Amino acid sequence: MPKANMTPMMVQYQKIKDQYPDAFLFYRLGDFYEMFNDDAVKGSQLLELTLTTRSHSAKNPIPMCGVPHKAVQNYIDILVDQGYKVAICEQMEDPKLAKGMVKREVIQLVTPGTQTDTGAAGAKRNNYLTALTMPAANQYGLAYTDLSTGELKVAAIDNLTTVMNELMSLQTKEVVVDDSVPTDLTDRLHKLGMLISHQPTIEASSELSYVQQDLTDQRMKQVVGLLVTYVTVTQKRSLAHLQRAVAYRPTAFLKFDHASQVNLELTQNLRTKKKSGTLLWLLDETKTAMGGRLLKQWLDRPLIDQHQIEDRQAKVGALLDHYFERSSLQEELVKVYDLERLAGRVAFGSVNGRDLIQLQTSLEQVPQIKHTLSELDEAVFDPMLEQLDPVEDVAAAIKEAIVPEPPLSVADGGVIRDGYNDQLDTYRDAMRNGKQWLAEMEAHEREVTGINNLKIGYNHVFGYYIEVTKVNLDKLPADRYERKQTLANAERFSTPELKEKERLILEAEEKSVALEYQLFVDLREQVKQAITRLQKLAAAIASLDVLQSFAVVSEDYHFVKPTFQKGHVLKIKQGRHPVVEKVLGRQSYVPNDVIMDQETNILLITGPNMSGKSTYMRQLALTVIIAQMGCFVPAEAALMPIFDQIFTRIGAADDLISGQSTFMVEMQEANRALSQATANSLILFDEIGRGTATYDGMALAQAIVEYVHNKVHAKTLFSTHYHELTALDAVLPQLKNVHVGAVEQNGDLVFLHQVQPGPADKSYGIHVAKLAGMPESLLQRADVILTELERQAADAPTVAKEATAGPVLAATTQPVDSAAAPTQQPASPEPEPTAEQPATDQQLSL
Ligand code: ADP
Repeated sequence: MPKANMTPMMVQYQKIKDQYPDAFLFYRLGDFYEMFNDDAVKGSQLLELTLTTRSHSAKNPIPMCGVPHKAVQNYIDILVDQGYKVAICEQMEDPKLAKGMVKREVIQLVTPGTQTDTGAAGAKRNNYLTALTMPAANQYGLAYTDLSTGELKVAAIDNLTTVMNELMSLQTKEVVVDDSVPTDLTDRLHKLGMLISHQPTIEASSELSYVQQDLTDQRMKQVVGLLVTYVTVTQKRSLAHLQRAVAYRPTAFLKFDHASQVNLELTQNLRTKKKSGTLLWLLDETKTAMGGRLLKQWLDRPLIDQHQIEDRQAKVGALLDHYFERSSLQEELVKVYDLERLAGRVAFGSVNGRDLIQLQTSLEQVPQIKHTLSELDEAVFDPMLEQLDPVEDVAAAIKEAIVPEPPLSVADGGVIRDGYNDQLDTYRDAMRNGKQWLAEMEAHEREVTGINNLKIGYNHVFGYYIEVTKVNLDKLPADRYERKQTLANAERFSTPELKEKERLILEAEEKSVALEYQLFVDLREQVKQAITRLQKLAAAIASLDVLQSFAVVSEDYHFVKPTFQKGHVLKIKQGRHPVVEKVLGRQSYVPNDVIMDQETNILLITGPNMSGKSTYMRQLALTVIIAQMGCFVPAEAALMPIFDQIFTRIGAADDLISGQSTFMVEMQEANRALSQATANSLILFDEIGRGTATYDGMALAQAIVEYVHNKVHAKTLFSTHYHELTALDAVLPQLKNVHVGAVEQNGDLVFLHQVQPGPADKSYGIHVAKLAGMPESLLQRADVILTELERQAADAPTVAKEATAGPVLAATTQPVDSAAAPTQQPASPEPEPTAEQPATDQQLSL
């Protein structure tokens, strides 16, 4: 619409809207936030609101819809959860007092990455906002923050793969970029579900310049500057709880890529996408929200420094040995609220009386926690004891000022204790006396008029009044009573005395609420000065909580302390897959050893489908991750090297996003392992090569094994249904065959789930097909074909060609495991060992 035809209000609206083209503008109009034009059309659909129009009479009515201001948070959450931004535009002056148009301003831009009110469901999850820069080719700056806790980390990264992995494992919903980041990269991030926010960097506000204080690297400074710019521009509120940026190196941790994180079900169940049935689910016995979030962080970044790991182990061990102290600690930790997020709300100014009482209650636990911890009498806890500062001054100040059960809203009064402030007490006396005065006045008026049902009441419009029913009106003396209001069967009056008392009472009420608010704000400012101390305390409590969680898990599931050594020996005695074990029950799970001495790098695993090959491989990966997090491990004994990276190619993780075929993804994942793994890495290859024709699949599988053996030297578990590969142990000295046993008993196939030395002798593909319920006639036919193929294979001349890395093995015309490997087409994914639907029967009837 041309501006000339717009009302002044719509001109103002449009001017503000132009500054926020990519956000829904919630425009405050009285008791509502209104949306107009396209925002209204789209918003009404997303929020299920009635779409109306403004100025219907005009030729071009303006689409409009609105939400009541009291319920606005719900509507904002719905939009932001769906990946949209919402600009909240407030009236900046009292409409009654404004001359002309009421002044309006956007007071906050809520975006997926800056949302801080994530509710109870989000308590154990961080919500990270990330900033990304790319000052030069292959040079990236990456910084992230959780605005609710103030955590701020930054890294300079030199390859895109690591950047992608960081972004994926942070589960970041929004990435802030400047012009340095090319569009093809932002497009890619966008396709992965991340919201891209473009923001030119402007000079960081001086209030927040301290966050860059510890940084020397120019790239890191730059990206933190971008992040700070964005939060300043969007939040427009105090961010005093933002912590100084901490530089980190992604390589200073055990690395695994996002695909591995998904395949190993570390934090998300493959099928349900929920936490249940994951390693995080198993390990989480934390009692506080802070501990829950830290556990997830530790799981995302296991350690590679032996001293740090052993430091955690020592603490877990101490907590494990002291059952009573541990129980007391748990009881104390339960009473600690989310200090990090409380500190965030103090900074934002959105803290209320109940929050402060939560803060006080939490702080009051600290001396007790320290006491219990010192009872352990273990020197490893000394630094932690030091860090556990009870911030007594803050606890005392809150206790002194705030009533034990304050109302939710600070605006209505009743938050500050009696006796805290003299002036407030005076007002409160007036209010309480007021009630007394009124009661006395009522009694007195009844007496002088002789009207027994005369009463004094109050309403918002008329204030205090004396009410007399119509039948009694003639009893009233004419002089003092001034009529205020007429009802159906009564009249309401005032008197000069009543007016005077009313003035005193109302003034006291008004002033006391204003004074209470001021006292509350003063207290909040005092608490704000302690934010850094509160954050330090929160960090100590969070790690204590995770460590006690490790102790609980280690005890409940019979974990042992692993020993680390330099060199390449891996000896896990009677290891278990802790999640499968938890789901199946301890009795049903068959433990297995993983033994690889200095000279053994590859275990080639054969055995029928469903026998437990993939579980065995995952078991090792999880054991390594758990160990390097500093927890004990599910085994009877464990001696292990410290791994630098884990690579997995397990399961059928089609890359749906980029639309690549299973086989392509398989080859890419394998390639990543081959090119990036070191001798200190762990590689898990599950049935690699099965996604293509038999010959080239097997050829690739053999070539990959040889490559790992000769060039990479990483510890590798390689499961295969290409039985022919088992002959490689004759030529590859670092390779050993193992197989998962199964036996036939009276036509029953019994899975032993037991890993034994040597190759499997038979693959039972047809048995498994039978278990799956295939028709009898089909199975008989398969038997006939198998016999024929085996006969042909035995007759066929052995293929022998020149090889660079080793001999070429005889290839039969069919894979041994015929049920598992369809030729010429992508493999269909076999059933995953999911936690929720385990094959509990070890003995399956044929
Ligand atoms: P494969 O990879 O050989 O096809 P899986 O590792 O997927 O077999 O295991 C198949 C099922 O067998 C799993 O779902 C699990 O319930 C069960 N299983 C595997 N390993 C064990 C074990 N060690 N003890 C008990 N049950 C197991």
